[in-house]
Amino acid sequence: MGNNRAGGAVHFAGTRWHAGIVTRTQNAPLPIPTPEKPTAIRTLLILGASGDLTGRLLLPGVARLIASGRTSAITLVGAGSDDWTAEQWRDRVSHTFDDAAASFPGEGKDALSDVLAGTSYEKVDVTAPGELAKLLATLEGPIAIYFALPPAVSQKACEVLSAADLPAGTRLVLEKPFGSDVASARSLNTTLAGLVPEDHIHRVDHFLGKSTVLNILGLRFANRLLEPLWNGDNIAKVEIIFDEELALENRARYYDTAGALRDMIQSHLLQVMAVIAMDVPATLMERDVRDGIATVLRASSVPEPYGKSTRRARYTAGTAGGRDLTNYVDEQGIDAARGTETLAEIDVRVNNWRWAGVPFILRSGKALGRKRKEAVITYKPVPHLPTGFHGVDTPTRLHIGFGPDTLRLDLDVNGPGDLFTLNRVNLLTELASDALLPYGEVLDGVLSGDPLLSVRGDTAEECWRIVEPVLQAWQADTVPLQEYQAGSAGPSGWDSSES
Ligand code: NDP
Repeated sequence: MGNNRAGGAVHFAGTRWHAGIVTRTQNAPLPIPTPEKPTAIRTLLILGASGDLTGRLLLPGVARLIASGRTSAITLVGAGSDDWTAEQWRDRVSHTFDDAAASFPGEGKDALSDVLAGTSYEKVDVTAPGELAKLLATLEGPIAIYFALPPAVSQKACEVLSAADLPAGTRLVLEKPFGSDVASARSLNTTLAGLVPEDHIHRVDHFLGKSTVLNILGLRFANRLLEPLWNGDNIAKVEIIFDEELALENRARYYDTAGALRDMIQSHLLQVMAVIAMDVPATLMERDVRDGIATVLRASSVPEPYGKSTRRARYTAGTAGGRDLTNYVDEQGIDAARGTETLAEIDVRVNNWRWAGVPFILRSGKALGRKRKEAVITYKPVPHLPTGFHGVDTPTRLHIGFGPDTLRLDLDVNGPGDLFTLNRVNLLTELASDALLPYGEVLDGVLSGDPLLSVRGDTAEECWRIVEPVLQAWQADTVPLQEYQAGSAGPSGWDSSES
């Protein structure tokens, strides 16, 4: 392991090459054009103040963003149907702010103290006509309204609002799942379109943080070595894998009605696939990047028969991540009759000139033996290997790891020792990351008015269109629901590229 001049760690395995071979030169930063500056948000209103998302992910993200100094002063307001006192809410906020203050001392600490001193809690039933509108009228605009609510409640809350209730510049932040099929996503889009313009709607995808998107785009479009080979002539397959050791984590009520396909693949992995498969955007502004993503998704589908292009399974008792797990179906709150999968895999085809014939394998599962979050690009073999070489002869592979973002290139090289023997070598580097947590990056986009990271309305519908026939086939039991032991690599025969 050694450090390159650009600050990233460079690791060599199985090679005596000099570190300089893969050392990056000090690149000039990618040019990011500055769009017209939207009006700064004055109030962040979190609906669902007492909820799990707010406590575990949202408030830590808010705290880091404020402490980083990257946002102008805001007033933080929590709201919910609970009869909380202002102190209860302030305690909750204070708890997460203390942690962030430790990471960002100095001015960051003062900014957090200011927000904490001014935060308040409002009791409101957001589904009751007029209640949320009444609250909005008391707040300083522009307001960002974060719907950290059960999806059905968010939808109802939007339905009882009207455009006239919203101060100028209001931004709406909607969590996943965005609808439950094409029709419901379309209906929710229609409701939202009646309230604010599309670029003021943030459909959250915290998986694709800003640094990850920019890392993939930078890697692909700033390196002549990669882009000319980034197509079906040279690439055999692309795998996008999100394997977790974690199991239900007390979210049985949500997860058992969702499953791995809806929870991860429909909402997150298709977006990653689109960034990997898109054509070069003219700029890094949201319009160009999100147009590129939408174009890929419009071209994508899962080929029939689904018994060949998709697989599903659920875990049985075992040990994952050092914890003993019972059978999924015996977990509290699970209805075995739903047939919910905890591991899903689909083969998506991007039906365009660049990607014709290339499988994009998207897989995600829980309670697996090893945490694995990466895209693996497997190149086709060379047309002819000169006779005389022996040893390892495996395809070139590029691994893009997510959170922390990494890059690993697997190549075959000569030696060591016998120069006629080919050996595998892995060149590994860390990619840049942002000190903000994923939700800090999401909120940065919301408060600064940049929807680059938000899922656009049309692509939310496209993602449902891609998976809906698969969900129907699974519902009809035309694809068997397999089993795997918790802590294993999945059912036997589910091998993916070695990593
Ligand atoms: P919770 O059930 O923990 O919290 C929901 C919140 O909504 C509670 O504070 C609840 O308050 C409030 N609420 C419910 N009905 C009303 C109402 N009529 N008026 C006002 N407030 C109401 O859900 P989560 O926090 O887990 O999830 C919220 C959203 O975030 C969901 O869309 C979920 O899919 C998404 N999400 C969650 C993640 C997580 O890890 N938790 C991860 C990614 C997305 P009260 O208890 O008083 O009713």
